[in-house]
Amino acid sequence: MPLYVLNQDGRPGMTRRQCTGEYKIKPIKRQVRELLGYPHPQRVPKDVFVEQWVGISTDEFHRAKDADVRYMRNRHPLIDLGWSRSDCLRYLTSLGLADTPKSSCLGCPYHGNAQWRHIRENPEEWRDVVEFDAAIRAGNARANASGTRLLGQAFLHRSRVPLSEAPIDHVTAAEWAARQQEIDDRTAVVEDLENGVVDGCSPWACRSGDPVRSDFDLTA
Ligand code: SF4
Repeated sequence: MPLYVLNQDGRPGMTRRQCTGEYKIKPIKRQVRELLGYPHPQRVPKDVFVEQWVGISTDEFHRAKDADVRYMRNRHPLIDLGWSRSDCLRYLTSLGLADTPKSSCLGCPYHGNAQWRHIRENPEEWRDVVEFDAAIRAGNARANASGTRLLGQAFLHRSRVPLSEAPIDHVTAAEWAARQQEIDDRTAVVEDLENGVVDGCSPWACRSGDPVRSDFDLTA
């Protein structure tokens, strides 16, 4: 994930996005290999594979891709059914599940304030994300250990304030001004700050967020 960074000299920045590969795809592949009985670095025989169902709807068919390893084969049942996002919502509504949230990690920096408030309603989940936010303050432990130390502090909330104190009940003037420089449309700014990235995120279709910006030199 990209993190919001407060540079040592007080300037804001962002780290590079790496969550999908690092935290999702790699662990999934590791688990699949273990389930198949061929943990890394063993070679998986040609005819041994898992079939993996990926929930990409027809609106996003361009994201439906083949797996990049032979021991996983992707299927896209929603595309096979011809279901769009609205079809999925209609179906969930018919089951009484209309308020199903978009899929994403609990501690995703792309959450808008509405998602943070929703998480806060669940004390256990809130404790979890607050702890995670505190744990990433010095940046990625592995990157720091390998010499690419973060020069500054990292945060989950775009205000670059610890999540436990972040302004999730209102938008600050600074947040408003910063986002307005990036998005012209006032309604879109409000929507973005409140609801974050509209689409969800999955290991095989991580679509959350803008292209990663490296405004400043954050590492040394
Ligand atoms: S939801 Fe997607 S973008 Fe957000 S932290 Fe998870 S993988 Fe990263």
